[in-house]
Amino acid sequence: MIQNQKTVLIVDDNYEDRETYRRYLLQDKQYIYRILQAESANLGLELCKQAKPDVVLLDFMLPDMNARAFIDQLQAEFNNNTNKLPVVILTSQQDEAMADDEESYDYLIKEKIDAVGLRFAVHKLIEQTRLELELEISKQFIKTALNESEKRFRLFADNLDAIIWIASPDSSQHFYANKAYEKIWHRSCDSLISQPLSWLDAVHPEDYERVLVKLEQQESGQLTNIEYRIIRPDGQERWVWDRGFPIRDENGALSYYVGITEDITEQKLAHEQIRHLTETLEQQVMERTSQLQAANNELEAFAYTVSHDLRAPLRAMQGFAEALAEDYGKLLDEVGNEYIARIINSAQRLENLIQDLLSYSRLSRTDLYLQPVNLNNVMFEVMTQLDADLKAKNAQVTISAPLRAVLAHRNTIAQVIANLLTNAIKFVRVDEQPQVLIWSEIKTPGWVRLWVKDNGIGIKAEHHKRIFSVFERLHGIERYPGTGIGLAIVRKGVERMGGRVGLESLPGQGSSFWIELKDASR
Ligand code: ADP
Repeated sequence: MIQNQKTVLIVDDNYEDRETYRRYLLQDKQYIYRILQAESANLGLELCKQAKPDVVLLDFMLPDMNARAFIDQLQAEFNNNTNKLPVVILTSQQDEAMADDEESYDYLIKEKIDAVGLRFAVHKLIEQTRLELELEISKQFIKTALNESEKRFRLFADNLDAIIWIASPDSSQHFYANKAYEKIWHRSCDSLISQPLSWLDAVHPEDYERVLVKLEQQESGQLTNIEYRIIRPDGQERWVWDRGFPIRDENGALSYYVGITEDITEQKLAHEQIRHLTETLEQQVMERTSQLQAANNELEAFAYTVSHDLRAPLRAMQGFAEALAEDYGKLLDEVGNEYIARIINSAQRLENLIQDLLSYSRLSRTDLYLQPVNLNNVMFEVMTQLDADLKAKNAQVTISAPLRAVLAHRNTIAQVIANLLTNAIKFVRVDEQPQVLIWSEIKTPGWVRLWVKDNGIGIKAEHHKRIFSVFERLHGIERYPGTGIGLAIVRKGVERMGGRVGLESLPGQGSSFWIELKDASR
């Protein structure tokens, strides 16, 4: 009910006209009008002040003021927010031309006014004023919401440790920078906004060129990502990490840059410390390795000399024991001859041991010249060399020929194969015929794996590694004689030729030893 009640002020010096309009309006079914009347402009303005009408019907020509002057005063008085006054100008036909000036206002020709036309004009104005008011309220609402959101953003941004900045692509303007700029640069945000390039003054001279490159990248719309140093007014140096992202408008044109700049001094220092530590550690490892290498070389040289020098007295012992047996054997009883045999036997074992030790240490000391080696030929040589042994043990050796060629040192590979084959026919159960299978295959492209598989006693998994070390033996010398150096030679030899060794074996199920060397077949 209240909503439908509207106040209309009729400002016209002609009583009849005022009455006519009043009548027309009172017939309205949509609104209930409270109608105020003024016969002069001044009175009209006064009533406007007091009653705040929803619509003013204004005669174009009033005795004390024309419509334009009236509107100007009205506008100065009330209309701050809306652009248009709720005014319908009523003009007589001869004033129509003048009324054209007021084209932004509704006007009606007095002579043509009828009830419907007048009410329509008033309805329109009421509706228009209502819409304008709603629009104004919405605008206010959006403004408040934006203010709120900006406040929240600032609160968030100013509590960040990183600088958030917004600048023009050519860096000639800085639109925004949060408080972190002051914390990191030790210069005010205001100075940055008023002198957009002033942040550059802090850049370390050695990093200046790189920062200029970043500015060029920014101007051409690229992503930027750079670490550089700045110097604070108190001379303190800081490292920063700066990244910039181009923001484009809906047409793809570069509008501005948003960036984030962090103080990474602490990370840099930590990183530097770690790098330094690593370097020192590497240096220490290198020193230690070369010390070990030197010690190892000395030890090997020592072993070689000792082994070598032991041979002369050993040979004398062997020679004299044999001479004793030959020349005085008949004079000695059985026990005496048995002692001589034991001396010769022990001397022989010692001789083997020294031989093996010498081979092993020679392997570490000499340069091995690698070349393509035909394993079939090597195999033949090894079989010939071990022929007596193979026959004595009635061993059956099957070679799955042809074997592939490998890159190796000929004598070394021959010794390696001989050692593996000797073991394969040695470590079998009593009275069992040794059966050995030898074949080659490519497991990894570029590498040849040579297998030596036996039907022997097998080896527990826990011993697989240690048997490749010097003097590691799993059995007593009486049952399975040996020096414990054979597999150490195998490993050292293969490794010195750039290859690898390994085995698959379970107790009682035979052993399969393998060596892997570079493929040399074309
Ligand atoms: P040696 O044969 O002189 O004893 P090796 O270094 O050749 O020394 O071998 C080390 C040990 O590894 C051997 O004493 C034996 O216990 C074990 N071994 C080597 N080859 C085989 C094999 N084919 N079957 C079972 N055991 C083996």
